[in-house]
Amino acid sequence: MPYKNTFPDYIFFSNFVPMWLFRNIRYISLAKIWNLCRLQTFYRKAKLGNVEQIVPPPYFASYEPTNICNLSCEMCPSGKGMLKRPRGIADIELYRKFILENRKTLTNIILHFQGEPLMCQQLGEMITFARQNRIYTMFSTNGQLLAQNIDLIRNARPDRIIVSLDGLSNETYTKYRVGGNMQNVFDGLEKLSQLPVSALHRIAVPCIFVQRTRNSRTEKAEEEISHR
Ligand code: SF4
Repeated sequence: MPYKNTFPDYIFFSNFVPMWLFRNIRYISLAKIWNLCRLQTFYRKAKLGNVEQIVPPPYFASYEPTNICNLSCEMCPSGKGMLKRPRGIADIELYRKFILENRKTLTNIILHFQGEPLMCQQLGEMITFARQNRIYTMFSTNGQLLAQNIDLIRNARPDRIIVSLDGLSNETYTKYRVGGNMQNVFDGLEKLSQLPVSALHRIAVPCIFVQRTRNSRTEKAEEEISHR
């Protein structure tokens, strides 16, 4: 039975494709577009119950540089010491192998999971290697080590950095981000904002997102601020 596009499919594709193109325009190739079409076909057939297909290579990957962290956030298995696997740093040679094997079809790589990526000495090398192989790179950080790693960021040039700032004061911040200091995050953000913008290299400065989780401790203060 041929698969018929449903309305949600059109919505997904009409939103996803322009966003994907816009974000990855520097890294796109015909092979990557072709692979994305193959993945979309695979997904549609799988929805019809055809599970005996050869899975096309991924266009998106998540690779953990380290599961070591400098904080002890209360909701995190890594921070709470509940990880069942050993702590460590990614094997850079294995990472290079992964990139080389997938570079023709991979457009994005996320370099974080259950740990603080800036605790990994090789993070800069990992970002640079992916970028040289025309892959969009991003990582999320708690921001504690941003200021002291500004040279790493300047040289490696990740495409996107997400900085987690969960709190409205150092008091609420440290209740959530146990062991951290909000001022360190601000210092890091300030240094990031001072990175030079190059007219020739528009990726000299990464796209920076600051995210804040609303929690029971900040809820009241946020409501007060929104009513001002
Ligand atoms: S900073 Fe991230 S990895 Fe570290 S303890 Fe907090 S949530 Fe977990």
